[in-house]
Amino acid sequence: MDRCPLTRKRRVNTMLNVADSGKSLAALKVGASTTELREFDLPDLPPDAALLKVDVAGVCGTDVSQYKLPLRGAPLIMGHENVGTLAKVGRLFAERKGFKEGDLVFLEHYLPCGHCEWDHMGEYRHCAATEWFYDPKAIRYGYTAIDTVPSLWGGFSHYVYLPLNAVLHRVPDGLSAEEAGIATPMSNGIQWTLLDGGVGFGSTVLIQGPGQQGLCCVMAAKSAGATTIIITGTSKDARRLEVASMLGADVVIDVQRENALERIQQITSGRGVDVTVDCTSGGGPGPMMLAIESAKRRAATLVVQGEGNATFPDFPIGRLTRKGITLKSARGHSYRAVELGLQLLASRRFPLDLLTTHRFGLAEVDYAIKSVGGEGAAGAIHVSVMPWL
Ligand SMILES: [Zn+2]
Ligand SMILES: [Zn+2]
Repeated sequence: MDRCPLTRKRRVNTMLNVADSGKSLAALKVGASTTELREFDLPDLPPDAALLKVDVAGVCGTDVSQYKLPLRGAPLIMGHENVGTLAKVGRLFAERKGFKEGDLVFLEHYLPCGHCEWDHMGEYRHCAATEWFYDPKAIRYGYTAIDTVPSLWGGFSHYVYLPLNAVLHRVPDGLSAEEAGIATPMSNGIQWTLLDGGVGFGSTVLIQGPGQQGLCCVMAAKSAGATTIIITGTSKDARRLEVASMLGADVVIDVQRENALERIQQITSGRGVDVTVDCTSGGGPGPMMLAIESAKRRAATLVVQGEGNATFPDFPIGRLTRKGITLKSARGHSYRAVELGLQLLASRRFPLDLLTTHRFGLAEVDYAIKSVGGEGAAGAIHVSVMPWL
């Protein structure tokens, strides 16, 4: 792979340990679709904090849409799907969290308050302290600006700062950092398909959108014993649909070449599907309409999302209620879903190398994000930023 001279020069830095350099190089978002490399001082570590040396920061569809937006305040270091090695661990942090220097961990992007009812259930995604969109003080990895000290809140950086309320998961033995980088879409896949959607043995499920998220839903449904897994995509998704088949999807549908609803009715002998999960992006109202119409006669569950669909004119609520449909929101994951996701990845039941298609250094963050958005390297499924490349 081509590397720009800047990245190559930085390779030298891998020889230094934390104490030697005292700095963290990071890709900083300084404006809409604009990134610059900048060096930050590493903070003095209090006893109740730790420092994560980032091995892999995954890039996801949310990064693609967020990257295009103007800054909401100061610049920020993006990267919210982080796997790394604990480089420095304060005494209290080690005591309270049970982790030590050298441990390979997956870091959740939520920084919960630690004492609300949701946190006690491992549902950090619902904690008010992680509502970065509404609360300017809420910290979320990959979304928090550098004017919140000590600035290192994103994975597109050599190091990330961990206060005591950081949520860590041990990466199971045998799983590489790059493979563990799939933990976020995998835990979403388990959360949305199994825990929220209720897919299990004998289920018929429709997954819309064959990106890394949809593919992880396929793996979750397959391992739970779903009988019929249908996945949809568009003509540009040909390779992703092929990968979906290899991961266990029973039927793949190109919605631009076939009438998806007719095909689903045919496959299910007119019965329809038990559960649908929406993993599309920029699909407009189409995926929701297909979900409602392909749902079985009564009591299906639709796991939906509103990415790019803030409003829905003429929403067919009558049709929805007549079919007794349950609507649920595809919105992040619980602690348990992450643990299950890591276990599933470590089981080696699925060829993960079909997913881990691209890796880039810090100087290529802009290109890495664009690749996930279909505007950079071809064939991207799961893209890893590896800050020490
Ligand atoms: Zn993400
Ligand atoms: Zn909380």
